[in-house]
Amino acid sequence: MKLSHGLSLNGHPSGRHFLQIPGPTNVPDRILRAMDYPTIDHRGPEFQQLGKSVLAGIRRIFQTEGPVIIFPASGTGAWEAALVNTLSPGDAVLMCETGHFATLWKRMAERLGLVVEFIPGDWRHGVDAAAIEARLAADRDRRFRAVCVVHNETSTGVTSRIDEVRHAIDRAGHPALLMVDTISSLGSIDYRHDAWGVDVTVAGSQKGLMLPPGISFNAISAKALGATKQARLPRSYWDWNEMLAANANGFFPSTPATNLLYGLHEAIAMLLEEGLPNVFSRHQRHAEATRTAVRGWGLEILCRDPDGHSPALTAVVMPDGHSADALRRIALENFNLSLGQGLGKLADRVFRIGHLGDFNDLTLLGTLGGVEMALCLADVPHRRGGVQAAMDSLAASAPKAPRVECRSA
Ligand SMILES: *Cc1c(COP(=O)(O)O)cnc(C)c1O
Repeated sequence: MKLSHGLSLNGHPSGRHFLQIPGPTNVPDRILRAMDYPTIDHRGPEFQQLGKSVLAGIRRIFQTEGPVIIFPASGTGAWEAALVNTLSPGDAVLMCETGHFATLWKRMAERLGLVVEFIPGDWRHGVDAAAIEARLAADRDRRFRAVCVVHNETSTGVTSRIDEVRHAIDRAGHPALLMVDTISSLGSIDYRHDAWGVDVTVAGSQKGLMLPPGISFNAISAKALGATKQARLPRSYWDWNEMLAANANGFFPSTPATNLLYGLHEAIAMLLEEGLPNVFSRHQRHAEATRTAVRGWGLEILCRDPDGHSPALTAVVMPDGHSADALRRIALENFNLSLGQGLGKLADRVFRIGHLGDFNDLTLLGTLGGVEMALCLADVPHRRGGVQAAMDSLAASAPKAPRVECRSA
């Protein structure tokens, strides 16, 4: 494998690497080319045009009319920004244990001095909106200041219904802020910051937005902005108000990730050219074909929520006694295919197939072909024919298919 920075393991790689982890995702050529320009003066007029354009354009991707703040940071930084701008030491926060990422966000909140109540979960289901409603209804003194949930739990491949969480909060008549992690869903799964009444949406560049890692986002409601006035958690770099003041003119208080913003400009154009509804249905179609393949192999999908299967990735449970990491190593060494590893308590027990970002039917079939061959080489008990089943699924749902049924003889 040849690494892009020139180091080489195992000699020359012909063809493309298949980066089928659920983030970072494959960066399309259009975006790579858009970033391949000299860095400009971030206080000059050319930057101002770029800044204004991306700050306006990104709102359409969050489906919001409100401000979106862009930090030079991975998604984790934007998690921190969401908490420190709105909350005070000792504030109670309600979170839901959907998987590894929800657990990390909870740990961060506790380190910051917040008091988290964690609704337990089995890492195979999405957020239980009824449990949130019950907790909030019982919170007579309105101690909870925020409800924080992960939209698409990337460690498990389960997506939660954010509109239902909103309804749960409303039915309880509770004033808590709603904060949502969309780091692996923005730009691949339908997400509506305004329509769903979300106060802070956290996102990152390297998943659905098809960019390299390095920038992350907070979309914020008027209520969240109002909360900054009382919020006493210490913040400096992450302060929204300083950002918003500079952003009003298209600028940033400190040096922005200029070349990533060139890429963001292109990513927004690509998503809007395809049309967000088409982007979302493309991801659903590929997810469906992936699940068809997994079932064809006779393997188990981690997600147990019939309505919660993630359009962005599928986590596959290894049969007992078989190592997911051994399978992933075989896929990488033989087929130049990277699959996602099991995270946290799922380490070595599941592998994750990323099918988000810059992706089409044939990249999916290449990915699934690599998985099926690796299952064989790793001696994992499975049925053959998962890829064929995925082909049948894709052919049957092809957007411009003539009305014929495509069946093997
Ligand atoms: C990737 C991811 C994160 C972590 O983001 P970083 O960019 O690695 O800091 C958090 N939450 C979810 C849901 C993710 O998919």
